[in-house]
Amino acid sequence: QPEGDVDVKSEPLVPSTEVVVMGARPCGVAALEALDKVFHWDYDDVRYSARRERTTLISFACTKPGPQCFCTSVGGSPHNTVQSDVLVFLGDDGQALMQVCSDRGAKFIDQLGDVAKPAPAGTKLPTVPEVKEKFDPEKIKTWLDESFESDFWTDISLKCLGCGVCSFLCPTCHCFDIVDEANWQSGQRRRNWDCCSHPMFTKHASGHNPRPDQASRCRQRVMHKFKYFPERFGQIACVGCGRCTRACCVGQNLVSILTDIESKAKGGDNADAE
Ligand code: SF4
Ligand code: SF4
Repeated sequence: QPEGDVDVKSEPLVPSTEVVVMGARPCGVAALEALDKVFHWDYDDVRYSARRERTTLISFACTKPGPQCFCTSVGGSPHNTVQSDVLVFLGDDGQALMQVCSDRGAKFIDQLGDVAKPAPAGTKLPTVPEVKEKFDPEKIKTWLDESFESDFWTDISLKCLGCGVCSFLCPTCHCFDIVDEANWQSGQRRRNWDCCSHPMFTKHASGHNPRPDQASRCRQRVMHKFKYFPERFGQIACVGCGRCTRACCVGQNLVSILTDIESKAKGGDNADAE
C-alpha cells in the first residue's frame, strides 16, 4: 500500500458456537429486553446480535426471593418468562418441571431426547412466591421529572465511594467507552465496559467534566433507569434483582432511595421547592 495510507480492518465476527446459559434467574434474563433495545436502537450492533442469537437461556424460577428483591415493583415476577427460552420450576416431588417459552427453547428440549421433557399441558405449576410491591415507578418518575437540581442527590451520594460495583453487577447496565490503543505501527479501536459512577466516565479531553461530583453521578444512575430509559424505550432499566444493594460495600440501598423518592412525590416535596 502507498506510504501514508492506513489499512483499516474490522475484527471478524466470533465463530458462531452455540451457548446455553443455565440457571439464570428470571430477573437477570428479563434484563436482556433492555439490552436488546439499546443494541438494536440507532445502530444495529452486529457483535451483540451474533452473541445474542446463538444463546439459549434456561432460567430457574425463584423459590425464595431475597429481602432486597423488588421485581414486582418494576413489572417482573419470580416466575417471569420474558426473554427465557425455558423456565424450570422445582416441582412438589423434587422433579424439574420445564415450561417451554420460545421456539429456541422447544428445540433445546427436543435435543435432550428422553433426558428431559417439557411439562405436559395443564401441569399445575408451583405457587408464585410473594415479593411485596415496594414502590410505584410512575410516582418515582413524576418526582424525577421535577427534581434534577434536588439536594437529595447530594444526600444519597455522601456515602457512595464511586467504586462501580453496583453497575458492574447490574444486568441492565450497559454503558461503554471506546478507546484507541495505538503504537507507531498499528492500533486497535476497543470497546470497554464502563460505569457512570466513575469520575472519568464523562471527563472530556479538555479536562471539563459535566458530572463533576458524586451527587451528579448518583443522580444519573437513578435518572437513567427510572426516567431517561422509560422515556426513550418505554420500559424501566431495572429488573429489581437487588444485586446492587446486596453488593454495595457501604450499604447504599436502591429500594430505600426509591421509597424516599416516592415519599417525596406523595408529599409534593420536589427539588425545585427545596
Ligand atoms: S456499589 Fe455502592 S459505593 Fe460503589 S458506586 Fe455503587 S452505590 Fe457507590
Ligand atoms: S436492582 Fe440494582 S442491579 Fe438489579 S437491575 Fe435494578 S439497578 Fe440493576
